[in-house]
Amino acid sequence: MDVWIGTSNKGKLSELSLQLQKEVPQAVIFSLKDLPHYTPPPENGKSFLENARIKARSLRSMKPGNWIIAEDSGLEVEALGGLPGIHSARYAGAKATDSENVAKLLKMMQIKGAMTQAARFFCQMVAYTPAGEEILCEGELKGNIATAQKGSHGFGYDPVFIPQGESKTLAELGAGYKVQHSHRSEALRKLLPRMKA
Ligand code: IMP
Repeated sequence: MDVWIGTSNKGKLSELSLQLQKEVPQAVIFSLKDLPHYTPPPENGKSFLENARIKARSLRSMKPGNWIIAEDSGLEVEALGGLPGIHSARYAGAKATDSENVAKLLKMMQIKGAMTQAARFFCQMVAYTPAGEEILCEGELKGNIATAQKGSHGFGYDPVFIPQGESKTLAELGAGYKVQHSHRSEALRKLLPRMKA
């Protein structure tokens, strides 16, 4: 079973691959790295769903007849009115690095004098079966924004996100924790029964 994942984000790909390899051993996983001449479409949707669908449909047109999985995800911070949200990857600018985005987030929390550190990660997944049926799955991970970065695993905002009930950041808790508990793993877990059927 060929499964095409619509991302070139190394962190996302490694988390999704780890979970898929464990749960669907017959899956042969491909990603945008296996399509060197592919230009991803602009993510100009107004919601996680619109952006995830843009990625999934574009990949399906390249690889029809296969399983297609795409997702759009991001961090919603209560004290920032839900930002960075769908702009998470580009919060500090179009070509911002993860550490620039994290630095901007911590600065904005300070500027706003945030009274709460509450936040959540959200993931909207859009998949297509080989027959072309669309499947939508969501996942979330609630937690708090730390006051400083800690840990070296993961990507994005992992060094400043402490899941509810934990005292360490995702970047300290590592890949094993994310495969069990992350917003992305929750969305994929909902899709797995269809892939195993
Ligand atoms: P996308 O590729 O437009 O979906 O961007 C998602 C962005 O949200 C990433 O670049 C990260 O900044 C952030 N993000 C999403 N999921 C995670 C996660 O699991 N950990 C840390 N940051 C994440």
